[in-house]
Amino acid sequence: MTAPNEPLETVSLDLSGPRHDEVLVRLAATGICASDAHTHSGRIPSPAPCVLGHEGAGVVERVGASITHVASGDHVALSWMPSCGTCRHCVSGRPVLCTAAAPAMFAGTLLDGTVRLHRGSQPVSHYSFLSTFATHAVVPASSAIRIDRQIPLGIASLVGCGILTGYGAVVNKARVAPGSSVVVFGAGGVGLSAIMAARVSGAGQILVVDPVAAKLDEARLFGATDGLVPSDDLVEQIRDLTGGGADVAVDAAGGEGILGQAFSATVPGGTIVCVGIPDVRARPSLPGAELVRDEKVITGSLYGSSRPSVDIPSILRQYAAGALPLDRMITRSYRLDQIGDAFVDMRAGRLKRGVVVFDEHLAGVAPAGDDVRLAA
Ligand SMILES: [Zn+2]
Ligand SMILES: [Zn+2]
Repeated sequence: MTAPNEPLETVSLDLSGPRHDEVLVRLAATGICASDAHTHSGRIPSPAPCVLGHEGAGVVERVGASITHVASGDHVALSWMPSCGTCRHCVSGRPVLCTAAAPAMFAGTLLDGTVRLHRGSQPVSHYSFLSTFATHAVVPASSAIRIDRQIPLGIASLVGCGILTGYGAVVNKARVAPGSSVVVFGAGGVGLSAIMAARVSGAGQILVVDPVAAKLDEARLFGATDGLVPSDDLVEQIRDLTGGGADVAVDAAGGEGILGQAFSATVPGGTIVCVGIPDVRARPSLPGAELVRDEKVITGSLYGSSRPSVDIPSILRQYAAGALPLDRMITRSYRLDQIGDAFVDMRAGRLKRGVVVFDEHLAGVAPAGDDVRLAA
């Protein structure tokens, strides 16, 4: 991306080797996320020129001198949230709140404040530490997470953003109990991932709310039990279906008014998890007296409140065991030079997930088409 709203270019860049605490990865596949498009449109400010892409998987080609957790030839999924391991949040088991990572991310550098990408003499920024719309990437040590070689890297490429975000909101933050009722607002990639997670957590009832009726049908294939289109009596419908309110509400959309609906649709003592990021100017209002009397918990969840090195392999093990239908997430695959088409498809709402394939064999996904999963 040379600048916001300029056509994306496929060009050759220089990539320096990994420093002592970094890893060089050859990408097999990368997922395409709405955040990439929001950055391209300028809605999410990020330094440019840059290489976009922040969910991917591949093979380790080279490691820095102090790397011991992965070696050349290992298969890895990438996490866009590296962690320093020493700040107060890291040591308390909440690496997504790492105080070292966010400033470097917004600066478009790796953790040491410098870049490995150049175009001639011009520095090129990284995007969310990964820049996976590329054949190779140099990433921080904690962004490279070793995974089982049996997992198709096309599937693994999806796990590092939307899937972990939705899954973790349900499993790590809401801690959904067996038999409980969950309502998910939004049936995009994050919402579908929350639905999958609610099902493997044993939720007895999984409601999904989305204005696009076709997405509700799709959500049933991921485990939703009831689909609702927003209406004036949406909250009453949810209360009726759940016998007084859902135990857990997940806002995977972040749209105006959804937090209020999620709050009212939740049972007293219930939990509301905010995942979709609202407009930065949004100031949602809530009924103050009920906030006290009903003892509801409202909490945010960033990147699935995850410990990526634990949760990403766990999600992929559950996929391999047949518990999480991650195959269903891939709508279409592309070659890297088709990335502009992929953005058009994504903005038109045609994709659950689009995947750019670099290595068809390792990805387990054909390089360009609609019927993309290869036979095992
Ligand atoms: Zn993303
Ligand atoms: Zn930290």
